[in-house]
Amino acid sequence: MTHSSKAIVLSIEKFGEADCYIRFLTQKWGVISTLAKSARKSKKRYIGGLDLFCHNEIFLRGDPKDRPYLLELTVINSFPQIRESLEKVMIAGKAVQWIKKLADVPTPMPNLYSLLGQTLALIEKETNIERLDLLVLVFKLKLLSFLGLSPQLEKCARCSGDLDNSAVFDLSSGGAVCQTCISGQSFQSFHLRTEQRMILSVAEKMKMPQWDSFLVAQEQVIPLSHLLTQFASFHTQILLPV
Ligand SMILES: [Zn+2]
Repeated sequence: MTHSSKAIVLSIEKFGEADCYIRFLTQKWGVISTLAKSARKSKKRYIGGLDLFCHNEIFLRGDPKDRPYLLELTVINSFPQIRESLEKVMIAGKAVQWIKKLADVPTPMPNLYSLLGQTLALIEKETNIERLDLLVLVFKLKLLSFLGLSPQLEKCARCSGDLDNSAVFDLSSGGAVCQTCISGQSFQSFHLRTEQRMILSVAEKMKMPQWDSFLVAQEQVIPLSHLLTQFASFHTQILLPV
């Protein structure tokens, strides 16, 4: 029985003399591992599609969730421009790491598959390297949203009251907290200005095709991105790449 799905390469692991295990985020089955026989001897069958980040149509034999054989593949996009830039490789690698750490399960997650595919396509196209940090911020927010781990940003995470410029971001409360609720308990919390809260809100809701018109000052991006990493690590107890 042959199965096929669109899939993105998350990792490649050598196995024995000539074989490889390839981990894919697939459109149909979530994250799965496949055995590519003789991948290192004969590249013919898998022509150009076994590199990290490659977006392929893959054909499998066996149960997709039980280490099937990778029969062959067709490359949809190998993202050559990501490979030409160390910065782009690092950024794309970060996105892949987040998926491997938080969503490494053979459960259909077509939203995640689309998110990673769209993110890689934008990394490929982006000419302003500085903007890649913002793209990672958007990616993290959307990934957390799909996983049901979004930080609360619209209302106080404790009392559901309105938030103003004195709000703080409190890891254990699950997001933004008003001044009244936080008084006396500043452990693991950071001042979160209204402007910063808005950036996070807009980034989470933004549709990927609107990427070119989403502009945020670079100095705003890094602290917010770090904050999200801390937030996600705190709630999943998984150490995530910044
Ligand atoms: Zn409150």
